[in-house]
This record gives sequence, structure tokens and C-alpha cells, in this order.
Amino acid sequence: MIAEKMKPLLQNNSAIRMMFEEGKRLASIYGANQVYDFSLGNPNVPAPDSVRQAIIDILDEEESTLIHGYMSNAGYEDVRETIAQSLNQRFQTSFRMENIIMTVGAASGLNIILKTILNPGDQVVTFAPYFLEYGNYVRNYDGELVVVSPNTDSFQPDLIEFAEKIGSKTKAVIINSPNNPTGVVYSRETLLQLGEVLEKKSREAGHPILLISDEPYRELAYDGVEVPYVTKYYKNTVICYSYSKSLSLPGERIGYLVIPDSVTDAEQVTAGAVIANRVIGCVNAPSLFQRVIQRCINEKVNIEAYDRNRNLLYHKLTEYGFQCVKPEGAFYLFVKSPFDDESEFCSICKKYRVLVVPGSSFACAGYVRISYCVSYEQIERSLPAFEKIAAECGLVC
Ligand code: PLP
Repeated sequence: MIAEKMKPLLQNNSAIRMMFEEGKRLASIYGANQVYDFSLGNPNVPAPDSVRQAIIDILDEEESTLIHGYMSNAGYEDVRETIAQSLNQRFQTSFRMENIIMTVGAASGLNIILKTILNPGDQVVTFAPYFLEYGNYVRNYDGELVVVSPNTDSFQPDLIEFAEKIGSKTKAVIINSPNNPTGVVYSRETLLQLGEVLEKKSREAGHPILLISDEPYRELAYDGVEVPYVTKYYKNTVICYSYSKSLSLPGERIGYLVIPDSVTDAEQVTAGAVIANRVIGCVNAPSLFQRVIQRCINEKVNIEAYDRNRNLLYHKLTEYGFQCVKPEGAFYLFVKSPFDDESEFCSICKKYRVLVVPGSSFACAGYVRISYCVSYEQIERSLPAFEKIAAECGLVC
């Protein structure tokens, strides 16, 4: 019955989900406190109280047929206007509501924009390690994902190989900063250089190459590091934003797409994206949560807990002899496996009931991802296990 295109998806069912299932299995045998599950990127910091209050107030104050009704496929005009004004204030941009389309999280923003621009055979370039769903999203519209090799010294993008990988079929580039899985944040300098490469390559290709900035982790940046606003560095940029992590609302599926006026054929791209939102089957972003966002426009989760986790885990793991670039954002640590084959390392971790995700799940073998969006206590409890793992792997402190 199922389509040929679905068959590889069934076979490659996410390693992250499989680890999560394994965590549940081990917890049922040894007890939840004896299992250290670092596999999922599910925020553990609660949404701000104002979110809960906004939900209550909206339900109390607004008419139910309006709250739960359909609206324009792009979302509520006043919500989009509030977002545009907030971005203008924060980043000195000049967006209007026409530049904003409400989406069902960043995942749907990515699908909407890819559906809008891709013809079969078009290529989309991204940098390893990357969120593996990009490949699926691009293939949804018969495009091909082209991957730039990881620059394992710093995990900043390798712009030389990037320039080499862009060709006449390149229609778009996806970047993700702060990055899942490395926690790396792209600097202004990096974005300027990336923009210059794209200007040059667009001229050579004879068509504009769209830069798609996937930004679910924008608000999760530590030590005061700046996360530059990408539309300022290259005019053909669209932003896929999400409240999944910034307000800890991943299950509510709410985000937005920014399509600036500077994008080539902006009006047509925007009109296409609004239709794509409908025909993909999202129709519109969740109504109640659009309203919540409007009331909580200046809120974000308290990232102190993530920062504490980041510091504890980074310091302890490096003390035990593990190697990793200190993350500046998101809530992941990308740790070098002591063996070339990281599945051997994952198996040793599992022996100590520590669940991590193999780097191959992000097209970067030889590494593992540790999600530190867990309780501080879980990290503290897991440290003796990490120390034993380090000893078994022959690492020296
Ligand atoms: N992009 C990246 C890099 C992610 O890590 C995720 C989710 O973890 C998404 C997109 C999807 O986010 P959303 O929940 O907003 O659809």
C-alpha cells in the first residue's frame, strides 16, 4: 500500500526516537532515577507563567467562535503586526505584517518555503552537522540536499567548500544558528562572508539563491553572545522562527516565517508561501497560540537553568578527558567519540544507562549529541557514570 518514497523513511526511523524508547525501557527495569537520558531536545524549563495566564485570559475574555475559528491562511493580522513591530524594535528592521506568516512551528515554516520555491531536481545546500529532517523536507518537494562537510575544529561553516558546492541547480541554503547539535552561534563576520559568497554565486547562476535561516534556538544564547539577525547580511534571506524552545511550547506548534521586502519577487514568494501553508494542509497556525504569542511578545523562558547545566556538563566532561567545543547557544553538547565508530561509544554509554544520540543522526560520524535540557539533578547523578565511561574508553583526565 505505502508509497515508494515512504519506504526509506520507515527504514531510517529516527535514532533519536529509538534512544528515547530505549530510555523508557531501561527506566522500567532500573527505575527512572537510574537512567540518564540525554537523547531528546524536549525543553525541561517550563513556559513562563505569563503564557498560562494569557491562555486563561484569552479563554475568559474572547468570544469562543473567534478564538477557535479559521482566519486568513497567513494568520491574524494584528498578531503579525505585533511580531513585525517587536522585531523592528529588537533588530532595527522595518518589517510590516505583510512580511510575517504564522506557521505550525519552524518545521512547517521550512516546508512552506521549500514548497514555494523548489522545482524537481533543485538543490538545497546545508552544513553538517545538521538537523536530519532537512533532507526529508527537501525531498518532500523533489529537491536534493547537498551537504558541506563539517569543520570539526570549530563547527563554524566551511565557506570554501560551501562555495565549491554551490552550482547552477542551487536554489537555497539552510543555516541553523544557534546550532543543533553543536550549540555554535554564527558571528556577524561569518554571516557577512556567507552573504558575499551567495551574492557572487547568485550572479554566476543567473538566479537568486535564497538563504533560509532556521532559528528555533535564537533566544537560547549564553554569556551575552550576539545572535545576529540574518536578514541584515544578505537580502535574499527568509527566517523560520519558532516558539518551541523560546517559550517551551514545542507541542503547541507555533512559529512564523519572515519574508522581507528585499527578497527577489517578495510579493509573489509571500503569496506562494500563504498558499503553501494551506495546500500542505496546515491551513493556518493554531489560533489560540497566535493570540498567546501576541500577549507574550516580550517573554522568553528563563535560560539560566540551561546555562547552569551547560557549565556543569561541559566542565565535568572535559575534566574526564572528553573533547567538545563549548556551546554558545541551544541546549546540546556535541562530544567527540573516543572511537571513530561512535556507535561503539554509544553502546558503552548505554551499558552505564547513559543515552546519547550518535553524530551520524546529524551527518557527522565520530561524535555524539548530549541534550542538556534535563534537570540539574539528572546531570549530577550521571557524572559518576560519565567518569566510568571515560575510564573504560581509556581517556585520561
Ligand atoms: N530546526 C531545528 C534545528 C530543530 O532542532 C527543530 C526541533 O528540534 C526544528 C527545526 C523544528 O522545530 P519546531 O518545533 O519549531 O517545528
